[in-house]
Amino acid sequence: MTDCIFCKIIAGEIPSSKLYEDSHVYCFLDINPVTPGHSLVIPKKHFEFLADMAPEYAAPMWEAGRKIASALRKADIKCDGVNFLLADGATAGQEVGHVHLHVIARYRGDGAGYKFDPNRKLPDDDEWKRIADSISSNV
Ligand code: AMP
Repeated sequence: MTDCIFCKIIAGEIPSSKLYEDSHVYCFLDINPVTPGHSLVIPKKHFEFLADMAPEYAAPMWEAGRKIASALRKADIKCDGVNFLLADGATAGQEVGHVHLHVIARYRGDGAGYKFDPNRKLPDDDEWKRIADSISSNV
């Protein structure tokens, strides 16, 4: 993908703060970190969405995320916990059209968080079952 900023990072055409790479993934610091150490793990092959990803790239991405999370906890940065975030699709907040896993160092008082409507209506039992059946039949 010639126009993809993350493909350009992998190719070395755009600078990045590299943390780790192997044959399938490249890991680097996010340029606009939620907290210091905020990292991104990307497959070395271009896939726009998670569902497009070949399994031989998906598994190494999550494993590299695990490695980075472990490193964040050991590094000389504030890190009492870690959030993984993967925005899949624009509605979910995906801005860069190359699958990427955010690995975010968390510490008490960092001001980060996951937002949802506290007044949301939960599904009733029938709807709950319909949802579960509909998802499970598509796995
Ligand atoms: P998302 O909103 O999930 O698509 O996240 C895209 C992320 O890529 C954002 O957190 C950006 O800060 C990050 N980003 C964009 N361009 C660069 C870059 N050149 N180097 C490092 N991170 C980048």
